[in-house]
Amino acid sequence: LSHEATEIKKASDRIQSAVTRVLDYLGDTNSEVVTYGKALETVSGKIENETDIDAIRDVVGGILAETKRMAVKSRKLEGQLKTATDEIIELNEHIQYIRQEATTDALTGLPNRKHFNDQLERSMYQAKEGKEALCLVMADIDHFKKFNDNYGHLFGDQVLWLVANTLVECVKGRDIPARFGGEEFAIILPRTNIHGAKKVGQDVRLRVASKKVIRKATGEELSSITISVGVAEYRRGEKAEDLIQRADNALYRAKNQGRNQVVIEAACDEDVAMQD
Ligand code: GH3
Ligand code: MG
Ligand code: MG
Repeated sequence: LSHEATEIKKASDRIQSAVTRVLDYLGDTNSEVVTYGKALETVSGKIENETDIDAIRDVVGGILAETKRMAVKSRKLEGQLKTATDEIIELNEHIQYIRQEATTDALTGLPNRKHFNDQLERSMYQAKEGKEALCLVMADIDHFKKFNDNYGHLFGDQVLWLVANTLVECVKGRDIPARFGGEEFAIILPRTNIHGAKKVGQDVRLRVASKKVIRKATGEELSSITISVGVAEYRRGEKAEDLIQRADNALYRAKNQGRNQVVIEAACDEDVAMQD
């Protein structure tokens, strides 16, 4: 079982036992209590074999609302339900935490690949339904290996962190930056056409290059980090992997044409390199 799956299992077991305990409290058989008990049993059944964190979160939200409602209605149960409510609130927070951890890249704090995949699917769906533009930006650090080789892996990690944070500085609102893998980053740009995306790509490229890179050990200033960027616009009906592939092709061109540049994949299949 993966770490995430184990954590989810633990959380759902705890929810089960909290719910069971509340059901034990309900000795009283007035109809209000019976309704509440039934609601809890339903919820308990739902969670038994659930492995999806979002589904569990919804269920816990439901338990919490029901329990709060019941606590207000029944003075007798108030104390016991208060204890159960506190526990469920804590579980709820714990679930948010697991969820956050499962979708975040630990090194950079950016959304991870899994989250990127989910968000890209969702954004593509919205673009399709709403007949809106959508672009994907892919960025890859130039000669990143040399940072690792010359200054060590930890220094390489700091470079990744710096680039990730520069990405965050360059986007706003709906835009979703992510760590795509290794030293590759992606930005999903909803409601953005190729011209807007080109600007974002160029902004990121220039901003990364403008960062001073200091080697803490010696205080020496190193040559700046550069990135190559590929941009593609969503074509209605295409699959996520096709959009990624086209952005990646543009990125590959940017590398081949000398790096430290943005290449957009034009609609006519003829890639266009960008100059400042
Ligand atoms: P190019 O300009 O063609 O992109 O060259 P490059 O050196 O950036 O690309 P290459 O694919 O040859 O090397 C990528 C390196 O990134 C290899 C891998 O060890 C390193 N890397 C991947 N993930 C991490 C990480 O989390 N931390 C560190 N420090 N290095 C990483
Ligand atoms: Mg790479
Ligand atoms: Mg690289």
